[in-house]
Amino acid sequence: RTVYLNGDYLPEDQAKVSIFDRGFLMADGVYEVTSVLGGKLIDFDGHAVRLQRSLDALDMTHPSDKDTLLEVHRELVARNGITDGMIYLQITRGAPGDRDFAYPPKDTPPTIVLFTQDKPGMADSPMAKTGMKVISIPDMRWGRRDIKTVQLLYPSMGKMMAKAAGVDDAWMVEEDTVTEGTSNNAYIVKGNTIVTRQRDHDILHGITRAAVLRFAAEAQMKIEERPFTIAEAQEADEAFITSASTFVMPVVEIDGVAVGAGKPGPVAARLREIYLEESRKVAV
Ligand code: PMP
Repeated sequence: RTVYLNGDYLPEDQAKVSIFDRGFLMADGVYEVTSVLGGKLIDFDGHAVRLQRSLDALDMTHPSDKDTLLEVHRELVARNGITDGMIYLQITRGAPGDRDFAYPPKDTPPTIVLFTQDKPGMADSPMAKTGMKVISIPDMRWGRRDIKTVQLLYPSMGKMMAKAAGVDDAWMVEEDTVTEGTSNNAYIVKGNTIVTRQRDHDILHGITRAAVLRFAAEAQMKIEERPFTIAEAQEADEAFITSASTFVMPVVEIDGVAVGAGKPGPVAARLREIYLEESRKVAV
């Protein structure tokens, strides 16, 4: 695979980063994951805007600009022959040459890395037909989950807890309400209403979330942006998640309790279809 590091396209085994990089030492970095379908980027603009927002929140300098990033994404897709898959982008505060909690001087060059992941046929995931099972776990992350940092240890622990419980993912709960999944936003459906947590510091503002809520509103569905409990989710007609890599994915079981009929429901299926169709149309 060819990867991108600080302006250069390199074979992956030749891309090297300093041991003093603050991403490595302090998780002082942000990232984005953009999907590729049919060789084109899904929602690139949304990811570019959120990247800038994450950088601003951490007072980090953008090492590039949106147009250049788009070129780099496209170049990697071409060089690695990606039809369906993902592009990972990470920017850290660079390697000041020593370890210090305080940020290094503003002119310290950031580290920017991009690589691709090949996922042939990712839009036809079998899980979309069977649905996924989740458990609930306490949300023990920090308080600025709206910044997309590379500090992913607790979500990784959550995935391991899900694995140990024999399910697919975990929904995180804080003060009795669901914040989000380990790497996705969480929704329930009751009648013609979609319920999902409001955008604040408690959750990542998903790019897929924004698109799906827009399509749901266009399809005359009612949207309530508010917290919900696990009990309310277990009694809902449907549940689902969204993320750039899974699109819309039905959830059919929460803490061992079947949601609705215990199989993917019509709303999640329809939203998945609309999302894939509409976002392919405007892919770049
Ligand atoms: N919440 C969390 C915690 C995530 O890690 C992700 C995916 N990165 C999402 C939500 C979904 O965001 P998006 O739709 O932009 O992929």
